[in-house]
Amino acid sequence: MLDATLKSQLQAYLEKLQRPIRLIASLDDGAKSAELRSLLQDIASLQWIAWLLFLGATAVFLLLIWWAATVVSRPLRELAQRAYLIELGQEDTELDSARQRTLELYELATALRGMARTLLKRKNALAESNAYLERAVAERTAELLKANEELLRQSRQDVLTGLSNRLAANERLQSEFVRLKRQQLAYTVLLIDIDNFKPINDTHGHATGDQVLRLVAQTLQVNLRESDFIARFGGEEFLVLLPATGISAALGVAEKLRLAVESKPAPMIGRVTVSIGLAEARPEDQSEDVAVRLADARLYQAKSGGRNRC
Ligand code: GH3
Ligand code: MG
Ligand code: MG
Repeated sequence: MLDATLKSQLQAYLEKLQRPIRLIASLDDGAKSAELRSLLQDIASLQWIAWLLFLGATAVFLLLIWWAATVVSRPLRELAQRAYLIELGQEDTELDSARQRTLELYELATALRGMARTLLKRKNALAESNAYLERAVAERTAELLKANEELLRQSRQDVLTGLSNRLAANERLQSEFVRLKRQQLAYTVLLIDIDNFKPINDTHGHATGDQVLRLVAQTLQVNLRESDFIARFGGEEFLVLLPATGISAALGVAEKLRLAVESKPAPMIGRVTVSIGLAEARPEDQSEDVAVRLADARLYQAKSGGRNRC
C-alpha cells in the first residue's frame, strides 16, 4: 500500500522533471536555441544573485567578528594591560568595571579591582610593618652600640677617681710605644705616689683616704694638658704619660705637679705631698715596660731621698 503511494509520487516527480526536456524536444531548432538562451540568461542572473548573497554573508560575518572584538576581546586586553601596569608598580591604575558592556566583563573587572585593592592593602601593611621593624632594629642597634661604648668606657675607668685605670694605661703605653718606634717621637712616663698615705688611712679612716685620693687625682688632672694622659696605676699611685715630651721638659711638668699637690691642702688632713719618678722612653727599648720600670726605680730613689721630690 505504502509502496504504491511512493511509487506514484516518484512517478509524478519524474514526470515534472521530464516535462521541460520533453518541451524542448518538441520544439523546432530555432525555438530550441531561443529557449536555451533564455535558460542561460536565467542561470547567469542566478549566479549574480548567488555572488551577492555570498558577499552579503561575508560582510555580516566580518561585522560579527568586529562586534565580538569590540565587546569582548578588546576590553579583555585592556583589562589585562591595566592589571600588568598594577603589577609593574603603577598602583593607581583604575580597573573600571562600570565601563564594561557585558555582564561577564563587568564581573571580571570588579573581581580584578577587588583583588588589586586587597593586595595593595596587604602590600602597604607589609611595608609599614617592615619600616616599623627597621626603625626598631636601628633603635635597638643604636642602644646596644651606646651600651657597648659605655661598658668599654667603664672597663677602662677608675671608679673612685674617674681617671683612666691600669688597663687603659697599659693600652696607652703600648700604642705610644708603637708610635715612638715608627716616628722616633719621644715620650716621658711619670710615676707619682702619695707620700705617707697609709698613716692617713690609719688615722682618719678609709673614707678620708679616699677623699685625699680623689683630691690628688683632680689636682694632677687639672694641671695637665688635654693631650697628656693620666691614670690611677695602683692604690695611691698615678701614671702620667707626656706625649712628644723629652725628660728635661717632663721634669718641669713633674715639678709643677708636685708643687700643685703640695699647695692644695686636704680637708682635715692638711698638706699632702707626692714623690715622682720620671723616665723617657727610647726607641731602642725592648718594650714599653722599660721606661715604666725605670720611672719606678727613680720613684723609689725620690722616696729614699726624703719624699716630696722628683
Ligand atoms: P710611701 O710614702 O712610702 O709611699 O708610704 P705610703 O704609706 O704612702 O705607702 P704604703 O704602700 O705603705 O701604703 C699605701 C696605702 O694606700 C696602703 C693602702 O691601704 C692604701 N690604699 C690603697 N688603695 C686605696 C684606696 O683605694 N683607698 C684608700 N683609702 N686607701 C688605699
Ligand atoms: Mg705612697
Ligand atoms: Mg704606693
